[in-house]
Amino acid sequence: MKIAVFCGSSLGNDERFAQAAGAFGQYMASQGMDLVFGGGKVGLMGVVADAVLAGGREVYGVIPESLRDRELAHQGLTRLDVVSSMHERKALMADMADAFVALPGGPGTMDEIFEAWTWGQLGYHSKPCAFYNVDGYFDELLAFIRKMSGAGFLKPEYAEMVIVKDQPAALVSALKSYQPPSRKWS
Ligand code: AMP
Repeated sequence: MKIAVFCGSSLGNDERFAQAAGAFGQYMASQGMDLVFGGGKVGLMGVVADAVLAGGREVYGVIPESLRDRELAHQGLTRLDVVSSMHERKALMADMADAFVALPGGPGTMDEIFEAWTWGQLGYHSKPCAFYNVDGYFDELLAFIRKMSGAGFLKPEYAEMVIVKDQPAALVSALKSYQPPSRKWS
């Protein structure tokens, strides 16, 4: 199984984020899982990639040319695909991965996991989407998702399709047993 991990290009200001990112990558590798990610060496992205590589598994990066040229690409990956735009990157990552997981991060992370979730809801793919809720980082976002559902903008079945866990083992187990809902507008 290849997991796309979306996470901060920064480390955040609490060392627990990097610890959790490293532990997640290590657990993935111990379970024989490979990583698809944004190809950067910076922030939590670099921490997850290093942990999966250290565990002996494969790491596939997909980076737009402009970020590569700013020397932000990780140099030790199994493979680095260089693409011309962010849109191309997201499409390629979505094709390559069997599941999508968000770790703590900023707007880039939110953009990527929300797009994967939206595509799943529409039936463009049947792959699980998950939040690794490190130390309650996503609590307010999860409350807002419940608000969306309560306000009638998100059917409960599409709110529930998103996996939320605060431990790597529970998260990976939920990815493996995921059953997609029927597609919206079918
Ligand atoms: P953010 O959460 O705003 O830090 O953005 C992180 C996400 O955006 C990652 O999952 C990457 O796919 C992408 N991204 C942002 N900055 C970079 C970077 N310097 N190198 C590679 N990817 C990046």
